[in-house]
Amino acid sequence: MARQELLDASDEAIDDAANFLDPIVLRGLLYQLTGDASVAAIPHVMVPMGFRGELPGITDPVHIAFLRAKAAAFLKAYRDAGAGDWPLSQERLHRSMELAVGGTISEDERELWIEQMALDPAARCFSWRREPDAARKDNFMVVVVGAGMGGLNAAVQLKRAGIPFVVVEKNKGVGGTWHENRYPGARVDTPSRAYAHIFAVGYPCLSPFAAQPVNEGYFNWIADNFGVRDHILFDTEVTDMAWDEASKRWTVNAIGPDGARQWQAQAVISAVGCFNRPQIPDFPGADSFAGTSFHTTRWPDDIDLAGKRIAVIGSGATSYQMIPELVKDAGHLTLFQRTPSWCIDIPGYLHPFPPQVSWLDRNFPWLVNFARLQASWLANPESFQRIIEIDPNFDDGHTRSPIVSAMRAQCLAFLHRKLDGHPELIAKMTPIGPPLASRPVVVDPHDGIYDALLRDNVSLVTAPIAAITPDGISTADGAEHPVDVIIYATGFKAHQFLWPMDVRGRDGRSLDALWQKDGARAYIGAMIPGFPNFFMVYGPNITPFFSGLGMIEMEELATRFAMQCIEALILDERQSVDVKAEAYAKYNSELDRREKTKAYLDPRVQNAFKNEFGRSAINCPFDVRLMWNWWRDPAGENGMREKADPLIRPFLGEDLLVD
Ligand SMILES: Cc1cc2nc3c(=O)[nH]c(=O)nc-3n(C[C@H](O)[C@H](O)[C@H](O)COP(=O)(O)OP(=O)(O)OC[C@H]3O[C@@H](n4cnc5c(N)ncnc54)[C@H](O)[C@@H]3O)c2cc1C
Repeated sequence: MARQELLDASDEAIDDAANFLDPIVLRGLLYQLTGDASVAAIPHVMVPMGFRGELPGITDPVHIAFLRAKAAAFLKAYRDAGAGDWPLSQERLHRSMELAVGGTISEDERELWIEQMALDPAARCFSWRREPDAARKDNFMVVVVGAGMGGLNAAVQLKRAGIPFVVVEKNKGVGGTWHENRYPGARVDTPSRAYAHIFAVGYPCLSPFAAQPVNEGYFNWIADNFGVRDHILFDTEVTDMAWDEASKRWTVNAIGPDGARQWQAQAVISAVGCFNRPQIPDFPGADSFAGTSFHTTRWPDDIDLAGKRIAVIGSGATSYQMIPELVKDAGHLTLFQRTPSWCIDIPGYLHPFPPQVSWLDRNFPWLVNFARLQASWLANPESFQRIIEIDPNFDDGHTRSPIVSAMRAQCLAFLHRKLDGHPELIAKMTPIGPPLASRPVVVDPHDGIYDALLRDNVSLVTAPIAAITPDGISTADGAEHPVDVIIYATGFKAHQFLWPMDVRGRDGRSLDALWQKDGARAYIGAMIPGFPNFFMVYGPNITPFFSGLGMIEMEELATRFAMQCIEALILDERQSVDVKAEAYAKYNSELDRREKTKAYLDPRVQNAFKNEFGRSAINCPFDVRLMWNWWRDPAGENGMREKADPLIRPFLGEDLLVD
C-alpha cells in the first residue's frame, strides 16, 4: 500500500526529517534498502557511555551528513516511484543488521535478533506443526487468567490457532500493570521501541519512554485490533483451581458480577503477572487516619490533590516517578523514606520524540524494525549481563565489580550535582548498598526527585514511621507530621506468585507445600511439577533484570512454549504434559548456582528482589539466550534436541512427561 503522507511530502519536508535519523540505524537500514557500498563503508567509532563503557556510534559530522543526504535522496526517489511496498533483501539482512548495531551478531543468535526486529510479525507467534484434527482442537478448552500484556498475547495466540479459550480478568479493563498504575508520572523505564509485541509493532511510538496512558492505550489497541476483547470476562477474579486426574481437566472457579463462575479446561495459562497485588505495611493506627489514603495502584479517579498536605510512603521507582508531578500542585509533600534509591539520569526521559521522528516511522520503509533492533541491542545479553555479575576479585568497599563501581560513581556525581549545597540531603539520598542491589530509578536530569526535594513545599523524613494517627504520621523521633492524604508507594507482593489463588495440582497438592522451603520456583519459569497442563507466562525467576531481553520478550517466548505444549496434547492425542520433579530440582539447583554471583543478592541491602529466604524468586539469573533456546521447541522437531545443553532438556519425553 502506498504511503500517502510521503507522496504528499515536499523535498524540504523530507530534508528536514532526515536530520532526525539516528546515523548508525540509518547506516544499516540504507544498506539493507539499497545495497549501497559507500554507506556500508562509513565507519563507526566507540563512544563513551558512562558506566556502560563504550558503545558504537557514528559521530563524525561529515559521515552523518553523508548518511542523511543519502536518506533524503532515497526517500525522494521512493516517493517519486509511488512509495509502495519495499521488499527486504534477505541476502543483505545479516550485514545490514550488523551495520545498524555496530557489532557482530553471531550465527547462534541471528534468529533471535531477526525475530526481535519484527520483520515478520508472526515470528514469535505460535504456528501449528501440522494441521490439527478439527474435532480435537474444537473440544479443547483453555482458561487464561489475566488480561495484561501476557494474557492478551496468550489470547491472540489461541485465537490465531483456533483453540477455544476464555480470558478471566479481575479488573474492568485490559493492560494489567498499565491499567492499575495510574499515578501521575507513571511510565516505562525500558525503551518503548522494544516494549511492544513483535506481532503488534504498528502502534505509534511517540516517546522514547511512554507514559501510562500510552501503554494502556497500546494494550487496548491490541485487544480490539486482534479481536480478543470479546473473549475476556472482566470484573471476574479466579479464586481457585484444581486438577482432576480422572478427567484430566482443571476446574477453574471465579467470582464475577453475576456470582460464581466455573470452567472445565484441559489447560490453564496463568498470566497474573507479579506486580498487581499491593503490599501495604502494617502501620499501627492506619485505620484511624481521618484523611484519604490509598496505594498507588488504587489511584482514585476523582481525587484533587491541589493544595493538599500529602505524605508519600516509599522510595522506589513509583515514588520517585510520582513526586515530581505531585509537588507541582501540592500544598506540601512529605516523603517518608526508609532507604533511598539510586537514580540514573537519562536525557529526554520525559520528552516525546519530535514529530519528524514519528513521521519517519510512518514513511521510511523498515525504519521501525531497524530502530527496534538497535534499541534492543543496546541491552544485548553479551554486553548487558556482565553488569549484574559480581567480580570475585573486586571489592572497593562499596561495590563488587568495576562496572557497578563506575555506575555508582556516575549516580553519585549526578546526586552531588543536583543537590550541591545541601549536604544533609545528599547524605540522606545516598544509598548504603551498591547500585543494582536494588532497582535503580530512571529519572529526567531536569525534572526528577532531586529537583522536587529542593522545592519549598517538600520535606524528606527519614526517621522510621512509628504510627499513623487520625491527623497524619508520627515518627520514631517523636515528631508529628499532620497530612490530608497518605499515598502508599510501597510496592507489591511480588514474591507471592499466583497469590491469592488456591491452585491445587495432582492429589490436591498445594503450591504452598511445594514452595514453603524457600519461596516460589518453577521449571524454566513456566511449569511446576505435579501441576500438569498449567503454564505460567510470568512465572518465578524470569524477570530479566539487566540480562539482555525485556519482559515482553520473555513472556512472548514463555507463551509460545505453552502453546507448543498444548499443541502436543492436541496433535499427538495426549492428555497431559507435566515437568518431572527431578528436572525441576535440577533446573533450580542450577538457578541457585547462577544466582550466587548476582549483584542483587548483595548482603548490604534487603531489597524488593529478595524474598524472606534471602533468594530472589523474581529475577532471572540465567543467560537469556539459554532461556530463548529452552522455550523454543518442546516437541524437539526443529533440531533443538541435538543443540540443547545436556543438563536442561525441556523436551517432551525428556524433562517433560507426557501421557
Ligand atoms: C509501575 C510499573 C512499571 C513497569 N515498567 C516496566 C518497564 O518499563 N519495562 C518492563 O519490561 N516492565 C515493566 N514493568 C513490569 C510489568 O509488570 C510487565 O512489563 C508487564 O506489565 C507484565 O504483564 P503481565 O500481563 O504479565 O502482568 P500484569 O500486567 O500484572 O497483568 C496481570 C493481569 O492479571 C490479572 N489478574 C491477577 N490475578 C487475577 C485473578 N486471580 N483473576 C483474574 N485476573 C487476575 C490482573 O488484574 C492483571 O490485569 C513495570 C511494572 C510496574 C508495576
